[in-house]
Amino acid sequence: MDFYNLMNIACHKEGLTFERDKYDKFIIYKDMIKEWNEKVNLTAITEDEEIIKKHFIDSIKSYRFEPLNNCRNLIDIGTGAGFPGIPLKIMRPDLEVVLLDSLNKRVNFLNEVINRLGLIGIKAIHGRAEDFARENNYRENFDVAISRAVANMSVLSELCIPFVKNGGYFVAMKGPSVDEEINEGKKAVEILGGSIENIIEVDIEDTDLKHNLVIVKKVKATPKVYPRKAGTAAKKPIK
Ligand code: SAM
Repeated sequence: MDFYNLMNIACHKEGLTFERDKYDKFIIYKDMIKEWNEKVNLTAITEDEEIIKKHFIDSIKSYRFEPLNNCRNLIDIGTGAGFPGIPLKIMRPDLEVVLLDSLNKRVNFLNEVINRLGLIGIKAIHGRAEDFARENNYRENFDVAISRAVANMSVLSELCIPFVKNGGYFVAMKGPSVDEEINEGKKAVEILGGSIENIIEVDIEDTDLKHNLVIVKKVKATPKVYPRKAGTAAKKPIK
């Protein structure tokens, strides 16, 4: 099956329309990933088909979580080469997006992608989540904080939940088995002001992959002591 059809089917399954101009943007983005990956370490996934399935379609599948379709703004923590934030933005041009990463080379790449694709209402920022979460215009300012492949549930909760408004959501994109991680992260989620609301299993077209979206609702303000200073969450996770 050609890439357009594959992505079109995946999008339709999530109730999304997939116009040609969106596809064109994905293809430019894919080619930029391959080109930049030769000088900057962006991703271990470098084959066209794998990029389409494991990066693009996997990111788009987050729209299975309904509130993502009508939230106003979103922050992607530890976005790396732009996942899931760039695909989410291409699919919903009206969504306000902030991409955050602690590696400046990746942020430079993201700025190039934003320019080349002509995306408006998106910015890439360089720094640690623990530092930005203490700034007034970031803390508790987002409808959704989302993250893929950055840390386990306890650590990730400390990096993401402080950014979410009361009533908003933290979406953790996880692999096939999440039960143990969720049990270990439950206490951290609660301490940080969240409540695990749902776990949504998603499949990726034309693969055997099954991933999970862990949905955490923000039910109260994050205590001021969190996040602790950069690196502490990873060294001493809340247990
Ligand atoms: N989310 C992308 C994906 O799924 O392909 C990238 C995942 S990569 C394994 C993890 C990324 O998180 C890296 O780019 C790293 O620089 C970033 N990162 C790790 N800890 C971070 C922190 N505390 N604040 C901001 N970015 C962080």
